[in-house]
Order: sequence, then structure tokens, then C-alpha cells
Amino acid sequence: MQRRAAIWILGAFKTSPSEGIEALAGLILVKYHIQKLTERSLICPFKLPENHIIHQLMDNSSPQPNPSNPHAIGSLTNCQRNIAKGHIIDSKTKSYGIFPSFEPLHQEFTPGQQISDIFSNRFSFNLVNKKEKNINCAQELNNLVLLNSSPSSAIIVFDTSIKDNIATSIAHVHQAGSPLIKTIHHASFITSSEAELFTMRYSIDQVCHKDNISKIIVITDSMHSAKCIFDSSAYPLQSHLAAILSELRLFFNKSQNNSIEFWKCPSRLKWRFHKDVDKDTKSFKPTPSLPCKILWDYCRKKDSNDIIKQWKMCFQALDSEGNNFLDLVDNDFNTIKPSYIKEGPWLQAFGHSNSLCARATQAITNHAPIGEYHLRFFPNKQFSCPCNKYPIETRRHILHECQRFNEY
Ligand SMILES: [Zn+2]
Repeated sequence: MQRRAAIWILGAFKTSPSEGIEALAGLILVKYHIQKLTERSLICPFKLPENHIIHQLMDNSSPQPNPSNPHAIGSLTNCQRNIAKGHIIDSKTKSYGIFPSFEPLHQEFTPGQQISDIFSNRFSFNLVNKKEKNINCAQELNNLVLLNSSPSSAIIVFDTSIKDNIATSIAHVHQAGSPLIKTIHHASFITSSEAELFTMRYSIDQVCHKDNISKIIVITDSMHSAKCIFDSSAYPLQSHLAAILSELRLFFNKSQNNSIEFWKCPSRLKWRFHKDVDKDTKSFKPTPSLPCKILWDYCRKKDSNDIIKQWKMCFQALDSEGNNFLDLVDNDFNTIKPSYIKEGPWLQAFGHSNSLCARATQAITNHAPIGEYHLRFFPNKQFSCPCNKYPIETRRHILHECQRFNEY
């Protein structure tokens, strides 16, 4: 079924090898897709509130005289467990490595009582004018700093970077035009969103505990994380969000003049304050330490990456068995490997044109109307190159040697 879809997408020959055309069309093999769905479904129960019936079933404590649920996995004997090997047991095993971060029933997320309901006029998101040139945007941020140079304003500028699976976040807090606090945090195996939210949580907490601060300005290159703070939907970083929201609620309740502003400062601006933080982030050399638990979000990403890795390995193994797949390289001279992200690397390059897509697929899979193909499938047909310089019209000859195509 998937093969038919790939042929339809690419306009490939019906005899084209499945692995090749499915990779070109950015379609992961069905078995890997099912594996990914299974892995994802194993971590779904951790989104649910603790009193949910699924959590009762996952109760692994030793059997009580009157258990809350007689079907809980804790009441199964070892033999029964080995026979069951069910989804719930796998899910429980997985739960030991995941940090519980969902708090959907936290009072900060109560409908009607959320910060966005009560204090909607106390926070704002601002973008520097995109149409302006970089120099003018930087000037806009300079003016913002000048306007808020009184001791009652605090400016938080932060940045995060991830290298070799270690996230480093650095935040600089300025008050009355001079640096007040500098913080550095680093952690292994977390997503950039978590690193950014943690830094915001820590910096906002520090500033809120200073006396006489009435305005907080957060300058970041990731407005997405800032907007997440006020997102009440089930989000895997709810434990951070609840902490930030509780802090902001106290801050807003202190005085009706207290407010917070979020400003986006794209890294390309190289604005002086942001540049300092960025420089510190990149020059900091953290010592890696392995966490015993990872976050839900990271687990989801890791599972997907592991499955893509398996797909790539499987593809490479099949390719080396002589499938005639033409290896191409990207701008950094790395061999292009299969991926389903954004339609896959091949369709990104030639998916815009049907005819180009069909021809490129024929060339890459070596299933094209050329002599080499005739020799393989229709040996009675002509297979020498019309240039008369080569006995067989092969893909290699056409791409590298044939004079008929010299102009290309
Ligand atoms: Zn030729």
C-alpha cells in the first residue's frame, strides 16, 4: 500500500525498489511507524492526573488485603506478569525513567482563575519591528533599556544553547543600567524549551524577590517559550509553568502597577546585551552528568530519533546490498539519509516540480529509460549509448562521461 503511494507521489517506475522510493517520498516503513506509535502510547498515561484509573492499574506496590483495584499489576504474580507482558506493564517500566512533569489539576490552571483571565493587562509580548533593518531594531531595544533605567525596573536577558546533548542557559539581570545577577545552568538530555522555561522560572523568581521592582522585562530570542507560560493546555512542562505562574500571581497581587513584558530579540540582531549572554553561553564548558530521569518531552523526542536511526541503518544495509541507490550529499558533503521531517530531504529539494521529481527519482533509483535498465529488464532492446563511445548506456556514464550531456 505504502509502495503504491510512493510511486504515485514520485511518478516512479512500477519496478522501482520499495525501500528506495519510500525513502525518497519521506515515508517511514510501516513497521517503524507502528513502533513509534507504540512507544508514544506507552508514555501517554503520564499526562493523566494521578487519580486516573490507569494509574490505579499501574500500581506496582505489593498486594494489600483490600486493594483499590484487584487488577493492578502489583497483584499479579511474577509468572502472570511474564505471560501478560502487556502494555500497562511496559508503560510502568518506562515510567521509572521519566520525570513527572504534568500537573493538569494545579490550581494555577483552574479555568476562570488563571493569570491570563485575571491579569490579562499586566503582561505583553512584543516584537521588534521586523521590517526595520537590524541596526534600527537594535536601537529599539536600546531605547527600551534607556526608558526602563529606573531602579524599579529589572531587565532579564537570557539565552540557551545545546551542544552534545548538554543544554546551557545563561541569564543576565540588569537593574538601573548595570548588571545585577548572572546565572548559569546546565543539564543533560533536555529539550531547549525546558532549558528556556527553567531559566525564566529561576530569573523571574530572583527578580520577584527583590524589593521595589514594579516592572520586569524579559528579552529572549524564543518567544515560543515565553508564550507557553500562559498556555493552559496540557503541556509537558506544567511543573515549571505552575511555579512561574504562582510567582507572577504574587508579584501582580503586590501592587496594581506591577507588570511583565516579553521582548523578542532575534540572535541575528547581535544586540549588545544579548551578544554578551550568547558569548557566555558558547564559551561555558559544562561537565556532563547523566540524569537518572528524563522529561516526558525529551523521552518522546528520543523515541522518535531512535526509530529514525533504525530506519537509516536498515536503509543503509539494504542500500549496500546493491540496490543501485544513488547517494547524494548535502551542502556540508554529508550523505543524505532518509527522514520524514518536512517531507524528507529529497522532496524538499525537488518536490515542487512533478516532472523534475519523476526524473530525479528515476535517476536516483537507477530505474530510468536508459540502456542499463533495458539490459536488465528488456535485454532484446538497444542498450548501447547513442554517443557510440560506450557499450552500455549506464547511469554513471550519463552523469560523468557522456558527451551528449556535457552542457549540463
Ligand atoms: Zn554516451
